[in-house]
Amino acid sequence: MPVTTPAARAAAPPSDTAMPQDFGALVRQDPEIAGILLAEAGRQSSTLQLIAAENFTSPAVLATLGSPLANKYAEGYPGARHHGGCEQADAAERVAVRRAMSLFGAEHANVQPHSGSSAVLAAYAALLRPGDTVLAMGLPSGGHLTHGAPGNFSGRWFEFAGYGVDPDSGLIDYTQVRALARARRPKAIVCGSISYPRHPDYEQFRHIADEVGAYLIVDAAHPMGLIAGGAAPSPVPYADVVCATTHKVLRGPRGGMILCGVELSERIDRAVFPFTQGGAQMHTVAAKAVAFGEAATPAYAVYAHRVVAHARALAAALEDEGFEVTTGGTDTHIVVVDPGPLGVDGRTARERLMAAGMVVDTCALPYGDARGMRLGTAAVTTQGMDEDDMARIAALFGAAVREEGDAGALRAGVRALAEGNPPYPG
Ligand SMILES: *Cc1c(COP(=O)(O)O)cnc(C)c1O
Repeated sequence: MPVTTPAARAAAPPSDTAMPQDFGALVRQDPEIAGILLAEAGRQSSTLQLIAAENFTSPAVLATLGSPLANKYAEGYPGARHHGGCEQADAAERVAVRRAMSLFGAEHANVQPHSGSSAVLAAYAALLRPGDTVLAMGLPSGGHLTHGAPGNFSGRWFEFAGYGVDPDSGLIDYTQVRALARARRPKAIVCGSISYPRHPDYEQFRHIADEVGAYLIVDAAHPMGLIAGGAAPSPVPYADVVCATTHKVLRGPRGGMILCGVELSERIDRAVFPFTQGGAQMHTVAAKAVAFGEAATPAYAVYAHRVVAHARALAAALEDEGFEVTTGGTDTHIVVVDPGPLGVDGRTARERLMAAGMVVDTCALPYGDARGMRLGTAAVTTQGMDEDDMARIAALFGAAVREEGDAGALRAGVRALAEGNPPYPG
């Protein structure tokens, strides 16, 4: 709908901030919130999004999220709902499930988890009892909150044992994983991380789990999109349960999903609803279906491989800038760098990068207490950037961390690179 009133015109996006949706109604009714959303769109398009967990979802996914399916209550599963009027909700969920199963070659998919953490909660609920022992990557090495953090349900309700990475190589030490599994006899082993830049050896994890009679839960929140695009190995043949998010490299709406074999399907479904969740967010479920449809295309496979090639190029260029790259590179979209050789730690480096318009997180390093930085190439690759742009990003990154040259010129350089590759062109 065209934007007409003076207030609407005042809050309307500047012509260089393309909005993926029609914001006319919101702008007229609530200029305050519309202004915030437009400012956020401006932030996203004028700075570089290097947070490894983020991406730009498609206009089709955004349209689905803003659709009237957002109004629908649909507790239960297709064909067995606690609410009337679920014909279209059922249809949308059936499509999402079918597409997820075919995309990942899984026997069963549950697409209702509200987030990655909800998916992990449901997986634990399906397989474990409070007090059970779970072996997962330790938080200082890159484990997620749901892998035993003291402030999280996982740390409160289960006994976690943590494996680490080798401090020199940064790689998972499978000898240590096996030794811990034998010593602690966990009921489940979790394989997954927020910052591991390499492919885990799922087959090794399966062997170790079998040796001690543990379930293998793979928390593939990060690599799920690479797996969909054939740019990373699939855990599906090895894991009892695979948990994931749909909003990281996979580029769908914010949400979670669970894959498993038929024998665990009922337990997983009951653990999601009614054990850990009420009504599914059907607009998000439909948007997941759209994202799975996109991820099944040849164009998405090209994207996933480009994400990895770009991360490798960025890692190499950052090494040339003087940063230490953990594990010496990457197999995925994640690059973890230590700015220590440049005389700063991750927190200071992040502040300098933020001032220049480069948005990154800090993360633990395999050695010592200093923090490093975790970068990802999923978002900039969606924007259409190429390997030359990765070299440009690395040069801007190095200059920002070293506080080299004119700060205004640096910010302008970052802005030009971001705005030259709009996430929502047109
Ligand atoms: C992102 C992530 C999650 C959680 O996802 P949310 O949607 O933020 O709850 C869980 N596990 C791992 C390994 C992750 O990287």
